[in-house]
Amino acid sequence: MGEPSDRNMEALRIRARERIRQGRLPRGKPARTWGGLGSGLPCALCDAAILGSEPEFELQLDLSAPAESVRLHRECHAVWSEVREEYSAAHDWRAVAEQLPAFGAQVEARVSLTGGRTVIFNLVCLKPAPSAPPSWINTTTGGPLPEGWRPIEWRYLDATKAESTAQGEDASLPKSA
Ligand SMILES: [Zn+2]
Repeated sequence: MGEPSDRNMEALRIRARERIRQGRLPRGKPARTWGGLGSGLPCALCDAAILGSEPEFELQLDLSAPAESVRLHRECHAVWSEVREEYSAAHDWRAVAEQLPAFGAQVEARVSLTGGRTVIFNLVCLKPAPSAPPSWINTTTGGPLPEGWRPIEWRYLDATKAESTAQGEDASLPKSA
C-alpha cells in the first residue's frame, strides 16, 4: 500500500473524474482542508489505507457538519485537486459555502442527506429573511428539503444541458479514426 507510484497516476486521474462525476468526491472547493498524518482510514480516491507514517489531507465539505470529511493521500489529493479544477472550469460547479445561486433560479445541487449520503436534486434557492439561512425548494416535489438535508454544491441547469449535449450521440461531431 502507501502512496501511488507515477505509473498509476493516470489511472487515478481517470478514477478521480469518475468519482467526481458520481458525486463520491467533491466537485467544489472544500470549506476547509487540513494536513496531518494518516489514521489508517481509507483514502477516498485510491481506497488504500492512509498509514500513520503517511501525510493525509482531510477535506471538510461543510463547516456545519464536522463529522463529514473526505480523506486523501497527499498524491491523491494533488490528483483530485487538479481534476476538480478541470471539472469545475468545464462544468462550473460552485460550493454553497462560497456562493449561492441567483435567488429563484433553478439549479442542480448535490445535497448531503442525513447519514452522510449525497444525492443530486434540482433545487431553487429562495431569498432568505434577514439573518436567516437560505431556504431551498425541491423543484420536483415543490416542497422544502427535509430537516438535516444540506445543499453542498450547485450549478446552473444550462451547464447540465451543455454537458448532456456534449456527452450524447451527436451525428454532427466528426469521428476520429
Ligand atoms: Zn490514496
